[in-house]
Amino acid sequence: MHTNHSITLQSALTEAIARLGSTSGTPQLDAEILLCTVLGKDRSFLRTWPERELDIAHYAAFDTLINRRRQGQPIAYLTGSREFWSREFIVTPDVLIPRPETELLIEHCLELIPFNQSVNIVDLGTGSGIIAVTLAAERPQANLVAVDISAAALQVAKMNAARHGVDRIRFYQSNWLKQIPPGLFDVIISNPPYIAADDPHLQQGDLRFEPQTALTSGADGLKDIRIIAKSASNRLNKGGFIVFEHGYDQGLAAQELLKSLNFSYVQTINDLAGQARVTSGQYLPPD
Ligand code: GLN
Repeated sequence: MHTNHSITLQSALTEAIARLGSTSGTPQLDAEILLCTVLGKDRSFLRTWPERELDIAHYAAFDTLINRRRQGQPIAYLTGSREFWSREFIVTPDVLIPRPETELLIEHCLELIPFNQSVNIVDLGTGSGIIAVTLAAERPQANLVAVDISAAALQVAKMNAARHGVDRIRFYQSNWLKQIPPGLFDVIISNPPYIAADDPHLQQGDLRFEPQTALTSGADGLKDIRIIAKSASNRLNKGGFIVFEHGYDQGLAAQELLKSLNFSYVQTINDLAGQARVTSGQYLPPD
């Protein structure tokens, strides 16, 4: 660490990139993002003022973030935020980091709900609240219930609802639907944990630092999806939907599960890479 001579933004970046080296696949991008976080500026500032001096307090803060990144800590936990559906969300190690695949879940859910329809939606395992907040913002007539088993996650979700000015969300600490007060929903949506407990990816990258309860679900990754699907029909209005995210290789299992529970119009949505990502079904019991 430099102590007795000045350091410019550019030289701080060069040094940080070298220190990140192979511990990050994107050392330059990481260093720029972390320096911007410390300075409270965007990346164009770094390009415009490479010769500007970095003061000692900012330098120390940057140094700490680079050290944490060297240990593998996710960028989103270091900056405390991540963009989802064009909004910035607060992210802490108590919640899963928002992922692009969850935008497909939102997209499909929005297709199921007409814009001006008043609907009751429950988001199971809300985490940072991205699903509940996005649906509340995109559907002005929707009322949301956001559920998580983790009190710490609910705090993050509440902060994100406040940040985006949506007040149509009620929050409950609950094990899936168990502790939710009686009442029927039009949509049950979830990005549940769905990774098999022994999946080697859990030992890699960002996943090492994320809450395991938000990631893993039994030996085949389907334990929680089964629990949610089985309890869903008791809590859905006639014509209501269940829609959830799952692993790329769980599409058929998800469809079979919903069909075995007598859901109709069961469909699986693929992402742009052709990977199965989201399955939904409609609850249409015979009269
Ligand atoms: N899609 C995530 C991953 O594979 C998992 C998220 C989840 O379990 N809901 O990293």
